Amino acid sequence: MRAMQIIEFGKPLEMREYPTPEPTGKEVLVRVTACGVCHSDLHIWSGEFDLGDGEVLRLADRGMKLPFTLGHEPLGTVEALGPDAEGVEIGNSYIVYPWIGCRECEVCQRGDELLCLNPQVIGTRINGGYADYVIVPDAKYLIDYTGVPQNLACTYACSGLTAYSALCKVGDLGPDDYVMTIGAGGVGLSAVHFASAVTPAKIIVADIDGTKRAAARQIGAYATIDNAEDGAVRKVMEITGGGAAATIDFVGRPETARFGVDCLRKGGRQIQVGLFGEKAQIPLPFFPLKMMSMIGSYVGSLAEMHELMELVKNGKVQPIPIEARPLEAVNSALDDLTAGHVLGRVVVKP
Ligand SMILES: [Zn+2]
Ligand SMILES: [Zn+2]
Repeated sequence: MRAMQIIEFGKPLEMREYPTPEPTGKEVLVRVTACGVCHSDLHIWSGEFDLGDGEVLRLADRGMKLPFTLGHEPLGTVEALGPDAEGVEIGNSYIVYPWIGCRECEVCQRGDELLCLNPQVIGTRINGGYADYVIVPDAKYLIDYTGVPQNLACTYACSGLTAYSALCKVGDLGPDDYVMTIGAGGVGLSAVHFASAVTPAKIIVADIDGTKRAAARQIGAYATIDNAEDGAVRKVMEITGGGAAATIDFVGRPETARFGVDCLRKGGRQIQVGLFGEKAQIPLPFFPLKMMSMIGSYVGSLAEMHELMELVKNGKVQPIPIEARPLEAVNSALDDLTAGHVLGRVVVKP
């Protein structure tokens, strides 16, 4: 089988040939027919996360070995089953839920695999979907997507799930409450699309780009705000009558994190999602004085994946623009993502 691999961090991926793996135990061999190219692939490809002030988190220091096959949004056809695999049939096509833990520890057993200390995530820890085949450790990670085009369906296990899980964390709010999302890119906009299916709160969308704000209004945002504009915080305070009950930072830059915190009402909660990087300055007295909290949200659980797919199948989730390219062209997709030239998602087709 072929795999497009990181041979050296930051250098173009290279095609390598390997024997096609044979599934053992409960494993399932999936022939990949589509795999989304994600912004977070750029971090893994570069081998580091910018923690700000010159501080860098290096994946090599955390035990990542090269060569490595990226691709955590694979979808494909079941090609072979291990002797103990059950629940899926050869020839059927599924989304691969990639956020898998060790499957043995206590947190994995109770379904919190994202909290596992020994993650086995497909495409970030275990070789992923920029390849002809992936091994999935258990059929329970294969998700039905009947009625959804496959090039679109593969993106739900990452961008759709990230938006859904973040929205699920806003808390128990009512129709008079406000949630402000910051960043109206692919993930941020999809959150606006299905927000009404998750929370009755009114959604305010902040973005510095007028085109994206217009897109957000078109899909049902209660109000939009230019967060780079002077007086933006005051405007949010006026609209909300004292601040948002929850803010979701889909960008993750120092200025977006601070903007969100400044727009929270007392008792409010900020959810950090974006991985842009660097350090934010948050005045510590705000925490007790505003009784505010900040939490992080990373992709979503297997249970949330099933909930999201129900919304998708019921037409609650607006499709995002998809552009298909051959597997060999994945480097061009990574370059275009780096340059910010991708609208929606590029999907590679092995
Ligand atoms: Zn992703
Ligand atoms: Zn575990």
